[in-house]
Amino acid sequence: MDVKFSSCYFCSSRGCAVKVYLEEGRIKRVAVDTGAPIVPGAHCVRPSLAGEYQEHPFRLDFPMKRTGGRGENKFTRISWDQALEEIAGKMVSLKNRYGAETIATSSGTGRGAWEFAKTRFMNLFGSPNRFGAVTVCYGPRIMVWLTTFGGALVSDRKKDLTRLVTLWGRNPHEGGPHTWSSFLKAKKEGISTMVVDSRFTEPARQADRWVPIRPGTDAALALGMMHIIIREGWHDAGFVKRFASGFEDLKERVRDYPPERVSAICGLSQDDLLDTARFFAVRQPSNITIGVASEHSPPNSIQAVRAINVLLSICGSVDTPGGMLIAGPSEDFVTDAAMELNSVLSPEQRAKQIGAGKFRFLSYPGWELVEEQVRKKFGENHPAGVYLTCMAHAPSVFRAMLTGDPYPVRGLFVSGSNPLLSHGNTKLVYDALMSLDLLVTLDLTWTPTAMISDYVLPAAGWLERPDMGNFCSIGAYPLVQLGEAALPDSVKGRYERYDDYRFWRELGCRLGQEEQWPQETFEKVWEYRMAGIFRKRKVKTVGEFVRQQRWEQGSVEPGRCAEGLATPSKKIEIKSVIFKTLGYDPLPSYTEPDPPEGKWKKYHLLNLSGVRTMPYHHSEYRHLEGFRRIHPDPIVEIPVDTARRHLIADGDWVWIETPVGRCRQKARLVTTLPPDCISTQHGWWFPEMPAKAPSLFGLWESNINVTTDDDPEKCDPISGGWPFKGQYMRCRIRKVQRGGGDMEKKGKDEG
Ligand code: SF4
Repeated sequence: MDVKFSSCYFCSSRGCAVKVYLEEGRIKRVAVDTGAPIVPGAHCVRPSLAGEYQEHPFRLDFPMKRTGGRGENKFTRISWDQALEEIAGKMVSLKNRYGAETIATSSGTGRGAWEFAKTRFMNLFGSPNRFGAVTVCYGPRIMVWLTTFGGALVSDRKKDLTRLVTLWGRNPHEGGPHTWSSFLKAKKEGISTMVVDSRFTEPARQADRWVPIRPGTDAALALGMMHIIIREGWHDAGFVKRFASGFEDLKERVRDYPPERVSAICGLSQDDLLDTARFFAVRQPSNITIGVASEHSPPNSIQAVRAINVLLSICGSVDTPGGMLIAGPSEDFVTDAAMELNSVLSPEQRAKQIGAGKFRFLSYPGWELVEEQVRKKFGENHPAGVYLTCMAHAPSVFRAMLTGDPYPVRGLFVSGSNPLLSHGNTKLVYDALMSLDLLVTLDLTWTPTAMISDYVLPAAGWLERPDMGNFCSIGAYPLVQLGEAALPDSVKGRYERYDDYRFWRELGCRLGQEEQWPQETFEKVWEYRMAGIFRKRKVKTVGEFVRQQRWEQGSVEPGRCAEGLATPSKKIEIKSVIFKTLGYDPLPSYTEPDPPEGKWKKYHLLNLSGVRTMPYHHSEYRHLEGFRRIHPDPIVEIPVDTARRHLIADGDWVWIETPVGRCRQKARLVTTLPPDCISTQHGWWFPEMPAKAPSLFGLWESNINVTTDDDPEKCDPISGGWPFKGQYMRCRIRKVQRGGGDMEKKGKDEG
């Protein structure tokens, strides 16, 4: 049996090391490569289904071109040459008519270390309008780290040093096998654990302390804890004095967050708040893992992430053994930022990035200020790749498609994403995409978004490409862990898939970009990016490297603060110079969301949408029998008493309604939520339902984003993140009545 050392990308975790066992070119089994640093532990079921995934008829095999109306499910097979020629031609004519900025791209979660190629292509083409899910997932966290610490924070968990591990708005039991393994390990080692979450999740059940706050009030909790910690003198005064700027201003600021105010905001008793502050303060150094919950809760998304990081800092848990260390890129490794060719996009074109005037932090104005600092410290290979830290504002781009304001956006490339499922306000996104002159989807399988595209192109999956963890490639920390392709990306007569690098390169070459794409294959890209490491290890190819030892671990040491950080003051910026320059509050703060107005007044329940669900990953894998057997239906969790009041029984189908739209999910009655909250799953569509519009594989049935609002006025005022949780996610529920649709009877359509 042949064995390949690959990087799994069934989720955006970190490209876990796996061994793929092959017989006659087919997968026999996939096993975790336990010796490597980045692995999922025993908590991930996804790789075991690689064989089913690889052979599934729902995979895209050949380029397809739309021949009927949008959504009619009429496509014909064409060659890659024809597809690329025609797409390039259409792009040129759109550029001539409207300017390069008329073309946008949509990204999803990090699914490989190839996003730099999309960015490079867009920079060379001249458009600043890349948008994606990073605005509400990890982008804010890394931008806050870069502005506050000049680098990403990584946990330095040590058995005899670390006193506390906190999961803040994160449930790795469902969505992060690697983090879940290490949480359980910490418990075994006797380290205290704390979970901040409105839901009583499995981690909350297992933690020493659970802090159940009102959704969206994370910033207030952190500020209230700091009030108590500073008042009681539990902070690390020596550390703060030496290494942080703005502490005196923070002291003033937290006076506004006394326990009586914060307990009312967060829904905790004052005693609970005091105990939580003490529990945290006396267990230092500590690690915190922040999840997406804060990032999903405007208007406090960014300020919450800031406040939590500042809380850690004043307790002396940053740049401290056993706490959080400030990491940087790997020596001898070429980061995404150095691969993106960001300098070729002119200031004039950057200034056209949609949404950058209003949401300045996660767009060019913020990125340029951060980039100036990290470039000084790290040079070209710095950790501020624009893919994660500099985006157009997606809701504003969709509106530009519909209205032509501020200018027409007429073309969109969708790769590694599925905007009809992943963005708020599906109906608006649908109308926007249907209005386009050019919609191209490069993906692994058919999706609702693919179904309304002009060209649907087959992408190579992780089994078919050499790849590595994308968090390493952005330069967030100095660990390079590589994997090789297990299978070819094309097999004559069976399929012709392109990896993303090849796609962007070949399209670029048809638009006159040849000179800027010197590496002909993705494999060659790795040889280039790892040339220094390959030299030291005396290897020449990816195959040799992974067989010798598939990773190269740099060290992250304490002492960065003493050296001077990549921030304007060279210190930990409790008071951020970059925030001030951008016109935002430079200190952490909490803003009470506006109360519901107009028709929203009738919607009293809060919806924690988008809770993670193993084995799915966002909108993926509903087509796989093996996955659907584990988790067949979309589930809405409803507190028992709330369900009774609505005459809803366990297992009933339930309408979830807002002024934006409605969808239905199956009720699970729980005692793990506050009475005014429900939680709903995201990403649901039904590949077994009719493909053509209006069904689009059951897009409108259970997709929670049919109900969510992406009004720019409700987005986070700093990052532009749209609400998936928090006080702006209101809804009401009622039982689906007989005749209101039976979800068990799903039709099929061969199209
Ligand atoms: S955690 Fe994600 S990347 Fe790691 S093995 Fe599981 S699916 Fe693959």
